Amino acid sequence: MSIPEKIPLKILRKKLAQSLLGQSKTPKTINGLAVTSLEDFVTESLVLEGVPFLGATMRPFPADELQAYLGRIQGGEKEKAEKYKLPYIHRGNITIQDGSKAFDLDTLRKQIMTRPTTLLKQNEKMTHSDGSSSVFFNVGLPALKGLAVNETTGEFVIVDTCPGAGQCKVFCYAMKGGYVQWKASSMAQTKVLNFLLNDPEGFKAALKKELQKASEKFALKGTQVVLRWHDAGDFFSPDYLDLAFEVARAFPKIDFYAYTKMASAAQASRPDNFKMNFSQGAQPSQEKQIEFARTKHSKVVQRDLFWDLIAKKGVSLLKDAKGRMQFTNGQALETFKSRLAKHYALQVASILTYDEMMETPKSPPNTWNVIVMPGDGDDSANRSDVLGTYLLFH
Ligand code: SF4
Repeated sequence: MSIPEKIPLKILRKKLAQSLLGQSKTPKTINGLAVTSLEDFVTESLVLEGVPFLGATMRPFPADELQAYLGRIQGGEKEKAEKYKLPYIHRGNITIQDGSKAFDLDTLRKQIMTRPTTLLKQNEKMTHSDGSSSVFFNVGLPALKGLAVNETTGEFVIVDTCPGAGQCKVFCYAMKGGYVQWKASSMAQTKVLNFLLNDPEGFKAALKKELQKASEKFALKGTQVVLRWHDAGDFFSPDYLDLAFEVARAFPKIDFYAYTKMASAAQASRPDNFKMNFSQGAQPSQEKQIEFARTKHSKVVQRDLFWDLIAKKGVSLLKDAKGRMQFTNGQALETFKSRLAKHYALQVASILTYDEMMETPKSPPNTWNVIVMPGDGDDSANRSDVLGTYLLFH
């Protein structure tokens, strides 16, 4: 059976079953009893419950192609464009088979199929100006393309983990730095993806268990538990989005939020405790579907709108006590708010700095547009009264 490059696994399995069993059909009923064909029985058995692999878009990664790719990684000969097409694999996670020049795919497969010890990564704990506190957790996948194993067949597969990604992939923070620098963190994300795809029910149960533990540790003491879904990766399918919403419904006291480049995820109806931000850098086909006046979103502000208004000494930025760049004075901030309002067709009165937002009591949904500098927190993404988050990078 020849297999085209990109083919949904459900169809692939059907073809496999057809090829194994031929085209023989059994009657639909015998003595009035419904009977399934052997082919359908095998197909359904392979599919197990629901949509296989949560309906992710993926393609097989044949052993010879993988061997050649690992060779290029080891030899430092990876082509530039490959990072957009093939999953990141840390060279520390690949070994040569004893007595052979080939890479040890069995060991790699075994590592990936080992269930992760934890799904949640704990980030900072913050105390707010009103004395309340929050603790932040992440759950993340490999950015853009992920490596996984089809545990039914043992074959390696490449998974589109960010199908809505457009320009963002060029400056993606999760395709560099600590995400890829360390072999353990790179493998940890791969294991999370593999667990999620092959055993969504097990994944859900494990995540709920960890959230329950976090709740008992923090929420019962009055600290708000916040989960950012995806420090990397995206809601790659409707079934995956449903899974995330189901987990959120099970913990109404925990705040969940995410950034997404998927229009369907940004505009889906969701539990009240799940905030979704459509973020800039998606494919134009996704952006076209978004009504920015009604959909919570985040945008990166072009530098020429603010750079001349920022306090500097020579070529260095003058930073505030929290290490953030600042406007030269109050007038400069007002000038920037006017420019921002004009550029994005906003009401000036709807624009707050991050600090102003933190001082502002919760308001009706989509009231505010918030300026966020490097060093500010992520609260605007997790407040339903904030419509737009405007990021100033330098
Ligand atoms: S969607 Fe996010 S994680 Fe994925 S490529 Fe874009 S910036 Fe990176």
